[in-house]
Amino acid sequence: MPYTYDPQNIFARILRGEIPNRTILDSAHTLAFHDINPAAPVHVLVIPKGPYVTYDDFSANASAEELVDFHRTLAKVCEMVGVVPGQGYRAITNAGEHGMQEVPHFHMHVLGGKLMGPLVQR
Ligand code: 5GP
Repeated sequence: MPYTYDPQNIFARILRGEIPNRTILDSAHTLAFHDINPAAPVHVLVIPKGPYVTYDDFSANASAEELVDFHRTLAKVCEMVGVVPGQGYRAITNAGEHGMQEVPHFHMHVLGGKLMGPLVQR
């Protein structure tokens, strides 16, 4: 197990209701809410409710129910925020130091509402 989960991270506090959020969808194992500092007209964060640090941690260690719930919630959210059907979106997840992850609770960014530009700086 390469990761240690910090239960004081900001998304853990959001999940415990200690910090408010603008919820889009709240399912059995997943929460989707608006990013506090949007980088695009649509900027949603989709997070599992379980204590997973990164996407690989979630993919390796989450239950089948959690995995399915996460991805189905993401799909529903894409429709709810109007990027599907529509002009599309970019889904990004950052992991660790090189990924420049700020919050150590796995989250997928769903960005849209404008042309997102090149994938990464070269
Ligand atoms: P990361 O760099 O870890 O991939 O992205 C963290 C994201 O969390 C950033 O886009 C940042 O704006 C967002 N964020 C940080 N703190 C909060 C918060 O308290 N509420 C919400 N809704 N988003 C937050």
